[in-house]
Amino acid sequence: MKNEKFNDGLLAFLQSSPTPYHAVQSMEAALLEAGFIKLNEKENWYLEEGGRYFAVRNGSSIVAFIKGREDVHEGGIRMVGAHTDSPCLKVKPNPDIRNKGFHQLGVEVYGGVLINPWFDRDLSLAGRVAYENTRGELKQVLLDFVEPVAVIPSLAIHLDREANNSRSVNLQRDIVPIFRQAEQSSGTFNDVLVSELRRKYPEIELKTVLDYEMCLYDTQQPARLGFKGEFIASARLDNLLSCYVGLQALVDYEGAHSCLLVCNDHEEVGSCSAIGAQGPMLHDILLRWLGDEQALMRVASSSLFISADNAHGVHPNYTDKHDSQHGPLLNSGPVIKLNANQRYASNAETAGFFRLLCERNKVPVQSFVMRSDMACGSTIGPITASAIGVKTLDVGVPTFAMHSIREMAGADDPYYLYQALNAFFAFEGCPGFQ
Ligand SMILES: [Zn+2]
Repeated sequence: MKNEKFNDGLLAFLQSSPTPYHAVQSMEAALLEAGFIKLNEKENWYLEEGGRYFAVRNGSSIVAFIKGREDVHEGGIRMVGAHTDSPCLKVKPNPDIRNKGFHQLGVEVYGGVLINPWFDRDLSLAGRVAYENTRGELKQVLLDFVEPVAVIPSLAIHLDREANNSRSVNLQRDIVPIFRQAEQSSGTFNDVLVSELRRKYPEIELKTVLDYEMCLYDTQQPARLGFKGEFIASARLDNLLSCYVGLQALVDYEGAHSCLLVCNDHEEVGSCSAIGAQGPMLHDILLRWLGDEQALMRVASSSLFISADNAHGVHPNYTDKHDSQHGPLLNSGPVIKLNANQRYASNAETAGFFRLLCERNKVPVQSFVMRSDMACGSTIGPITASAIGVKTLDVGVPTFAMHSIREMAGADDPYYLYQALNAFFAFEGCPGFQ
């Protein structure tokens, strides 16, 4: 089955991408293999018709595009967006805590972590390290410990009889991971980084570790599950699933249209950063491609942006958390996300276009609207729409347990979304209504 093979690639991508830096590294490798050329933002760009390019900022945000042979002012650019970051726990700058013979690591919460599932997991550490080498040069390198090296043990139920009724988690006190059992005199976390770097990269001639961004992650591999393998489970489905689907759709597109994929970091913390969707990266790259602001505005008016980020499937144990008319089901196709208050950017025009696209390509499609008495989340769709002025819609694969350390989706839905995005890139004429 096509989606079986597709999911093999998706699960491998999730496994090799414990942080946004690793995700972008994985995406870079796939783009290079597919003949895309990496652009250096410090140099002049000479973009050729039919050329396939990408640029990376901060190692964690990426824009890849095909400069189509079709006149871009006529056909616009078919754009897809997603985000590379996921909620997680990050090691603090001075993390070393010694208590009862344990060496623990102080951690900071990144984004809206669903914290309870982080207990009793076999955790590893990955991220990037900034260092000075023996020649006095400043460098950075990605590091992944791979093996489980930390754990946040639960408190036994015998020591908290009310645990099943009323346990709440204090983010400063209760989630400090145990890193190792060690003497007071044993080295610091920084010392561990130094020895790990020397072991993994003997060639870098490390002098000093200057700083780091290291995240904890679950070492349990992404997997298929369900009696008939109907589901997939993994960390970071939000939103590496959409990054992977968008990437495959772009890499596989061979027609004459101009197409683009942007995957931003920092969505989970509001997107306001140099490399977030609120920052200038997409605008800058479009400007360099198209030449001037007027050209950019012309092209924006004939383009369409599909923001892909996971949706909430209706959970059989909590059906009343959804509006009874808008409960997306797993394995029933991508979800168009709508919100009258513009927390999602979809409107009649852009959602109508997507429905038609799905209908023509035999992809089932669903709708999500939050219950009217509950607050609605948001994503990069409205942010990109307001930054670039491009017509936008928000879609996503329905999932369970969003922001848990292990999320779940239907096994059919990633491929459905791929088919829809592929059809979007291949769509003849100007995407959207005229
Ligand atoms: Zn998301």
